[in-house]
Amino acid sequence: PHILIGTATCGKVSGAMSVYDAILAALERLGIKATVTQVGCFGMCYAEPTMDIVLPGLPRVSYGFMTPEKAGRIIEDFIINGNPRPDLALCTIGPGLIEGITPFDEMPMLKDQHRIALRNGGHINPLRISHYIARGGYAGLYRALSSMTPQEVIDEVSKSGLRGRGGAGFATGQKWQFCRNAQGSPKYMICNADEGDPGAFMDRSILEGDPHSVIEGLIIAAYAIGASEGFIYVRAEYPLAVSTVRHAVEQARERGFLGTNIMGSGFDFDVRIKEGAGAFVCGEETALMASIEGRRGMPRSRPPFPAQSGLWGKPTTINNVKTLAMVSYILAEGAYRFAGLGTDKSQGTCVFALAGNINHMGLIEVPMGTPLDDVIFKIGGGIPRGRKLKAVQIGGPSGGCLPADLSATGLDYESLIKSGAIMGSGGLIVMDEGNCMVDVARYFLSFIQAESCGKCTPCRLGTKQMLDILTRITKGEGKSEDIPALEELAKQIKVSSLCALGGTSPNPVLTTLKYFRDEYEAHINEKR
Ligand code: SF4
Repeated sequence: PHILIGTATCGKVSGAMSVYDAILAALERLGIKATVTQVGCFGMCYAEPTMDIVLPGLPRVSYGFMTPEKAGRIIEDFIINGNPRPDLALCTIGPGLIEGITPFDEMPMLKDQHRIALRNGGHINPLRISHYIARGGYAGLYRALSSMTPQEVIDEVSKSGLRGRGGAGFATGQKWQFCRNAQGSPKYMICNADEGDPGAFMDRSILEGDPHSVIEGLIIAAYAIGASEGFIYVRAEYPLAVSTVRHAVEQARERGFLGTNIMGSGFDFDVRIKEGAGAFVCGEETALMASIEGRRGMPRSRPPFPAQSGLWGKPTTINNVKTLAMVSYILAEGAYRFAGLGTDKSQGTCVFALAGNINHMGLIEVPMGTPLDDVIFKIGGGIPRGRKLKAVQIGGPSGGCLPADLSATGLDYESLIKSGAIMGSGGLIVMDEGNCMVDVARYFLSFIQAESCGKCTPCRLGTKQMLDILTRITKGEGKSEDIPALEELAKQIKVSSLCALGGTSPNPVLTTLKYFRDEYEAHINEKR
């Protein structure tokens, strides 16, 4: 037998390690010889801790909401007595059926997903490079180094239609091309793992559960742009991700995927890990590079763009965790496989962290263009306690708040921008009818205000003024001139802030004013 236990951060905080201990104790007590593997997150964070059992000739059976007692009982019932306990199972995974247990492909949460960046989470031990290789890992790198020129790698990624999944949505192939064409040496390739949006945990989960998919993507990108050195810039607040990535980099080095003459190709590249110090603004490319250089993490104006003058003044490319995890897939499977998913302009898949008032809190990956209501009601299982959907905050604190009547909006770059939100890095916070939208706007603005680096006046003082007005309104002390003042401040901040953090900071206020203006007016007119 093979038993898999999810021990990513979501599993650990739900008690996975005591379930793990109980599994080992039960196996010993029952005299069962089994392999027990700690795996990353499968995406069903709402059901943590999870445990899966694989017996010869049967599909893998997934169990959720584990306790030490339940785990011991299931092991005895299934492995010793042949009863797979359908009453406690979530689903089966893989070929074959077990009576009374829903197959993976029929699970509402799973059947409409298409996993590329999340392809290995929950399937492999992230500390074992051999597990990654056994699922096709490093095949993309092998293909790139053994049979493609750097230009052909860039062309392949361009053909796939991949756009940066960190927020801006810039074409990845084009970004690489700028850096490849730039003069200067050495060149640097950076993975941006400084995920800081409230409610976002996609990058953490990928690094904790499948770090090699990102490292492989990073090496492929480095080969394409001609970089010899790289960095993974990861939040220090993600200790499990940091230690998992460190371990993975060492393993990749030992196996010859990093260092000199990689896979006998003559290509040299190595990676260092840099831990961020908790500043949200360091997710911005120029601030991130300043932080790596040992300076205070503050954005600078562009041009020059990082592709021309980045880290230490040298040509540099920065890609997000999800982007790089997709790159390794694209090189292994071919551009057209990726490009065949999604919409004309937004190809491939998008990863979202579902949080807030939703039954199936967790991580999902769907083809671009999937309607928002499919994500909330089919995949996310709807709103708890029979309440109604009121709004969804998409794209983190710089994103926008969409009302329930826009829930048919497709999740792709173009449709979201049209509706006033942005894709952002993939945070999706669902709110039921019990939420006050002025409070929500105030919460997101207070986050941005606290994270403003203070370099430019519109962001430093403008967001403070907006926050003061919102605080006054939520306290029932608002005045009729407050709404026009908020709109005017938002306009000024948007056009005159130095970086995207300031430039997009008014979005939650502007979208809630657009769609929920009556709530602002009610606070002001009824003094509540
Ligand atoms: Fe700093 Fe805000 Fe200016 Fe960006 S917009 S540089 S975060 S003060």
